[in-house]
Amino acid sequence: MEDCVFCGIAEGRVPSEILYSDERVVAFRDIEPQAPVHFLVVPRRHVESAFHLKGEDGDLLAAMFAAARQVCSELGVESSGARILTNVGPDAGQVVMHFHLHVLGGRPMGWPPG
Ligand code: 5GP
Ligand code: ZN
Repeated sequence: MEDCVFCGIAEGRVPSEILYSDERVVAFRDIEPQAPVHFLVVPRRHVESAFHLKGEDGDLLAAMFAAARQVCSELGVESSGARILTNVGPDAGQVVMHFHLHVLGGRPMGWPPG
């Protein structure tokens, strides 16, 4: 999708700090980090949100979590852990309509979330 910023990042049209990339998945640092470690994991394919995934996307999801783990390991937060979440729709505050996992780490996370 031409006007989608995360498609643009995945295709290299929009600059970002890429942390991981393969044929299906890209991970890059969030432009407005909310924790010492805050990056996003996206599918290269444009999927609007988690509610738009299909039954056959199980392998894609597994690849996204594997990428999250690898980047956490490289950034030194695999053993301290991370919060991995995805916002869906207006109540959750989804702003970019391209499915993405937020991966936050490097500090303890509060609960419940805001
Ligand atoms: P959402 O609210 O949709 O779950 O989160 C969107 C996230 O994308 C936000 O945390 C925001 O900071 C991040 N973001 C928005 N535009 C850009 C961008 O152009 N580059 C990067 N690296 N992150 C972005
Ligand atoms: Zn997109």
